Amino acid sequence: MRRKERYDAIIDYFQKHNPDAETELNYSNPFELLVAVILSAQCTDKRINLVTPKLFEDFPTPEHLASSNFDELFPYIKSVSYPNNKTKHLLGMGKMLVEEFDSEIPSTTKELQKLPGVGRKTANVITSVIFDQPSMAVDTHVYRVSKRIGLVPLKSKTPLEVENYLIKNIPKEHIATAHHWLILHGRYICLARKPKCEECGIKAYCRYYAKNNPIMQ
Ligand code: SF4
Repeated sequence: MRRKERYDAIIDYFQKHNPDAETELNYSNPFELLVAVILSAQCTDKRINLVTPKLFEDFPTPEHLASSNFDELFPYIKSVSYPNNKTKHLLGMGKMLVEEFDSEIPSTTKELQKLPGVGRKTANVITSVIFDQPSMAVDTHVYRVSKRIGLVPLKSKTPLEVENYLIKNIPKEHIATAHHWLILHGRYICLARKPKCEECGIKAYCRYYAKNNPIMQ
């Protein structure tokens, strides 16, 4: 199957079956999403959603983080992965937002990446979800699923290569939603160790499935 046909078929499938895909992190404003995404690195959204209600209640603004300290903040997030680093990141992020960005969440990937705890993936989630920009955040699911399906060349070695390839091939208007399609597909169907191919709605267009079921080709 040619790559363009594969893209068309998969976008068509997800548009029909999950047109309004969105993040599973709970948030009610850009600041809360930024905090939740920083916390979600190498952790599950479910776990983050358990800790954020109390955290958002007691630290509702960048100023609250900026005027806090490690011992105050740590207990709120001690059950997430890497709590020490994440506590330091949130405190630093709050301080920088207050001191350098007038407590506003910056809207460019470049500025966002200046904030402690914010890498390219987190910055892309914010520009895409909050600012509606055609950014593709490549996490472990997007990276694995894109390669397996055949949306990107198998030889792609880095998240940035995968990001650039997806951005080039997905029509601009679908990029933000496609990020969630790929994450959710990786989280619930195309599992890392044992993909649920038989119940997968896109198996007819999947390179991995065709390779392992040659009769389908
Ligand atoms: S067919 Fe299997 S490998 Fe391909 S996308 Fe579906 S679950 Fe993943």
